[in-house]
Amino acid sequence: MRKTLVVGNWKMHKNLTESQALITEIRGIVRDEFRHNHAQIVICPTALALASSARLVEGSEITIGAQNVNEHKEGAYTGEWSAAMLKSAGVTHAIIGHSERRQYYNETSAVCALKNKAAVTEELIAIYCIGESLSERENNQFLEVLQLQLEEGLDSISADEMNVVVIAYEPVWAIGTGKTATAQQAQDIHAFVRQWLAGKYGQPVADATRILYGGSVKPDNAKDIFGQPDIDGGLIGGASLKPRDFFDIIRAAQ
Ligand code: PEP
Repeated sequence: MRKTLVVGNWKMHKNLTESQALITEIRGIVRDEFRHNHAQIVICPTALALASSARLVEGSEITIGAQNVNEHKEGAYTGEWSAAMLKSAGVTHAIIGHSERRQYYNETSAVCALKNKAAVTEELIAIYCIGESLSERENNQFLEVLQLQLEEGLDSISADEMNVVVIAYEPVWAIGTGKTATAQQAQDIHAFVRQWLAGKYGQPVADATRILYGGSVKPDNAKDIFGQPDIDGGLIGGASLKPRDFFDIIRAAQ
């Protein structure tokens, strides 16, 4: 039985004071309204706010994730931080290969493979993002693209290590655009990903791995999307900055 997971990705929004206020507000709603059948909750603020956010959520149902992690253990990599450093700040998860990082920072699936390995080695849960562009969907190349992202990004991850990996399917054309994949379109891809996982790691690993959907999830479409058999929660951008909307999405994901 897979525990549903909802991850909020704040991207580059909120300064330190604003982040602390937002975390505190979400923590308050969760304290008052969280029920055991609601989804597990991870919030990914900017790097600046990771350590203080982790302290603020101590003892709550929320844990903190990073939006990126470096593939190296340590060294002369100005502006970067390692998986072990994230762990030391109380961070539990790291988003890897988000389409914005692939697009603006040239992160390839090969680089993501190193980042996934670095995260799982430290038992930091890797949320590995895959997704096709609009033209790849329209040209009917999307299954090949997704398969390649899976093959390359998970290249050196063993079956045992998959218990600290989550996959997030985020069609690039649905991120921040207000366009959502239909529940059926998303389900078809999730079933494809699970089948691919079964081929590489065996059915028990495929059955245990959580596959999240991301792309303009809102309170009014969350239930339909999360109701699909192979969708185990969501990666939420815009709506995660609105505490009430974010909690309504968590509630929809049971
Ligand atoms: C995201 O940032 O991963 C995302 C899915 O954004 P949005 O929900 O705003 O489309």
